[in-house]
Amino acid sequence: MSILIIDDSPDDRLLLQSILESTGYGDVYVADSARAAFQLLGIDQSGSRPLSVDLILMDIMMPEMDGIEAVRQIKAVDQFREIPIIMVTAKSDPVDLQLAFAAGAMDFICKPLNKVELLTRVRSVLRLVHEINRRKARETELLEVMRQLEEANHMLLRLSRLDGLTGVTNRRQFDDYLDQEWRRALRENMPLSLVMLDIDGFKDYNDAHGHQAGDECLKQVAGAISRALNRPGDLVARYGGDEFVMILPGTPAEGAMRVAETMREKVQSLGLSRSNHSLKECVTISLGVATLYPSRDTSPSILVAAADQALYQAKQSGRNRVAQSQPQPS
Ligand code: GH3
Ligand code: MG
Repeated sequence: MSILIIDDSPDDRLLLQSILESTGYGDVYVADSARAAFQLLGIDQSGSRPLSVDLILMDIMMPEMDGIEAVRQIKAVDQFREIPIIMVTAKSDPVDLQLAFAAGAMDFICKPLNKVELLTRVRSVLRLVHEINRRKARETELLEVMRQLEEANHMLLRLSRLDGLTGVTNRRQFDDYLDQEWRRALRENMPLSLVMLDIDGFKDYNDAHGHQAGDECLKQVAGAISRALNRPGDLVARYGGDEFVMILPGTPAEGAMRVAETMREKVQSLGLSRSNHSLKECVTISLGVATLYPSRDTSPSILVAAADQALYQAKQSGRNRVAQSQPQPS
C-alpha cells in the first residue's frame, strides 16, 4: 500500500509520515508542494518513472498552487482519476471543502492532526476503494462471461442449423429458408428454382467401401455441389440420407438447369469409384429441377414436389442426368 503526503509544513509531513509508517503502511512518500508531487507522479512530463500510489493526503493551504487546484490537476489525468484523495485542512471552511469535493477529493481530516481520526479515515477510504475495485473486477468478469455466453449461443445457433456430417444447412433450416425466399419472390415477382439431387447407387457404394467411406463420400459430394453455387442467396441443404436440395432465388429455369448440370459434372469429376470391381464406374448424381413464380394460391411444397418428381424422372431415364418438371398447382 503506497501513500503520498503533499504538505508544505515539514512538521505536519513528518507527523503524518511517522503515524502511517508506525501503523504499518510501508511505502509512504512525501512532497512539499504540488509541483514536487506532480514530478513524483509523472504529471509534469519530466520523463521520470511515475510513482504508483494508492492514496494521497493533500494539504489545502500551500503556497504557489493550493491543494484544491492540485487535486483538480491530478484528477484531470486519466491514470489518476480513480486515486482516492483525503484533504488535510487547518480550517474546516465549508466553501473550501465543497470546492475540494467538487475537484474530486473523497474525504477530509482537520489539523491539528489526531492519530485515531487520521487512521480511521485512511482505513475507511482504502476499504471503500478496495470494495469499488473488487466490484469493478467482478463487473469485468461478468461482462466477459456474458460475451462468452453470447459467443456460445451464436455457435449453438449456427450448429443447430447445420447438418452434423456434411456441414451444409440441415433440413429444418432449409424449410425456413425456402419459406423466406418464397415470400421474397412473391413480393418481388421473381422466379424461384429448386434443385433436388440424389446419389446414384449409394447403397452399392456403402456395401463396397463401408459406411465410414460412405460418410466421407457424402462430405465430398456436399463440397462439390456447394462449389457449383456462386450467388450469396443460393443455399445447399442435406435433405436426408444421400439426398441434397438447393434453393436458387431469382433464378429462371434455364439458369437452374445450368447450375444443376455443373453440379453433375463436378460430382462425376471427383472420380470416386463406386465399387471395388469397376474403377471406371464413378459416383454420380441425378438431379431434378423445378422453377416457378410464387403466387398467393400456391405454396412452397408444390415446388418441392415438382423437383422431387423431376429427380424421379432423372433416375427413371438412366441416372447421372438432369431432368426438369413443371410445378402443378394442387
Ligand atoms: P439410387 O440410384 O436409386 O438413388 O440408389 P441408391 O442406392 O442411392 O438408393 P437410395 O438413394 O434410396 O439409398 C440411399 C442410401 O444411402 C441408403 C443408405 O445406405 C445410404 N445412406 C443414407 N444416409 C447415409 C449416411 O448418413 N451415411 C452413409 N454412409 N450412408 C447413408
Ligand atoms: Mg441414392
